[in-house]
Amino acid sequence: MFRYIALSVFLLFLAILLFRTFVIFTPDKAIFEPCSSTSDNHSLHFDQQRLQAFQTLLQFQTISYSEDRQNVEEMKKCRDFIKKHYHGLLKRYPNFVQLHSIAEYSLLFSIQGKNSSLKPFLLSAHMDVVPAGNVERWKHPPFSGYADEEFIFARGTLDDKGNVFTMMEAVQEYLNVYGQPFRTFYVALTHDEEIGVAGASGVSRYLSEQPFGRDGQFEFVLDEGTVIMEEAFPTLNNPLALIAVAEKGFLSAEYRVNVAPGHSSMPVTPTAIGILARAIDKVESTPQPSRFGQGPEMSLLLTVTPYLSFPLRLVMSNMWLFGPVVQWVLTLKPGTNALQRSTTAITLINGGEKDNVLPTSASATINHRLHTADSCRRVLETNRAIINDDRVTARIKTCSEPSPVSPFGKDVYAYRVLEQTIRQTFEQSRQPIIVVPGLMLGATDSRSYTNLSKNLYRFSPFIYRHDDLNRLHGDNERIRHKDMQRGLNFYFHLIVNNQLENLPLPKFKSEF
Ligand SMILES: [Zn+2]
Repeated sequence: MFRYIALSVFLLFLAILLFRTFVIFTPDKAIFEPCSSTSDNHSLHFDQQRLQAFQTLLQFQTISYSEDRQNVEEMKKCRDFIKKHYHGLLKRYPNFVQLHSIAEYSLLFSIQGKNSSLKPFLLSAHMDVVPAGNVERWKHPPFSGYADEEFIFARGTLDDKGNVFTMMEAVQEYLNVYGQPFRTFYVALTHDEEIGVAGASGVSRYLSEQPFGRDGQFEFVLDEGTVIMEEAFPTLNNPLALIAVAEKGFLSAEYRVNVAPGHSSMPVTPTAIGILARAIDKVESTPQPSRFGQGPEMSLLLTVTPYLSFPLRLVMSNMWLFGPVVQWVLTLKPGTNALQRSTTAITLINGGEKDNVLPTSASATINHRLHTADSCRRVLETNRAIINDDRVTARIKTCSEPSPVSPFGKDVYAYRVLEQTIRQTFEQSRQPIIVVPGLMLGATDSRSYTNLSKNLYRFSPFIYRHDDLNRLHGDNERIRHKDMQRGLNFYFHLIVNNQLENLPLPKFKSEF
């Protein structure tokens, strides 16, 4: 009898696992027709002329070195090139296209729509770049814009001049094809994203005085961000488009130990350095608690689940049972670990004056990137408990709380327009593209735009393979000609799709 009960319970258990795997978590069958064959029937090409203009843009050494040091002369040249290159728009459409200078070097294009009752949207990208690092390690000089058959090489191709250029070209093409849009939109090109927020906060201030900006009612804001990843997950063949719906926070805190002076011939131990070293070792070796399931990471995993192969699909479909295992697997790689918790990095250390004098003080800076469910205060409290030593004091150097999580999913118009545009532009017949909410691990200009809209999305319309990630702020940054072409079409169709009150519904496989 007992054997039968055990067997029945086991079978029921198995049935639940399989039901969730194959009935609840099934792939999305919607088909979005590629942009070249939709009703607007328009597709843009990254031709020789566009390549040359893009190369010129890449040749300006618009380097942001540190908070107070920027290559201002080159930024001026870059700004003036853009103004000149798109001057035709202002001349041709003086009634509805305007250009505003913001914080001296940033540019804001405004394109007034015919229907003032539609909520406007903002596209944003930045013109500055980080330094090229060791130029010797670059295959081609980092500011040459050298192009071979497949790639264009330069600092700023991916971050973020690729977005600057494809965005502006798409706007120009849209206006030339369709004329005045229905919906108002803005394009912000900022000058100091890598070191500050003067550009973006100036844009934000200007727009907060415009209709819909005052009450934070912009339809959405789109800034640089996460990309389309190939081979993003084990057993996943589909490309994964990540729309970052939130941005991690940033906390830098200084930990300090002060003690009475003494002579090193009769040392009192531990010294200030010893006390500090123990404290930071404890913080480094004790990870901040996992916030798995409290941010967008869970939605990301659940959206991907139906496309995974068995048995991974079974595991992920049954988080109620395997959640702790998945959580543990995420900790194994720095990239996935950063999705589920606030990270910790000891970045600076100071202490001691002379080799025969006991140090009276020692300090270290710890940098955290905060999960959306954490806050600066919460992380500092966790650290205090971990250190558990009153001789160590903490002082906040910089605190930027994590962004709110923007709404996402099929019911959110702005998110749906983005998903639709991505699938139209990138879907290839072989594998449907999966669009998922993601988390931005670094900081972007969008942190300055929170007053304009609750729908803040961070996405760059380019396909990355794993080694491309190291090129961001690294050596040999480059972009594919093909990606530039896709970028043009993405922004063009994003503008087109935003003119529609109702999105064209995707077809389903059964309709064919
Ligand atoms: Zn960037």
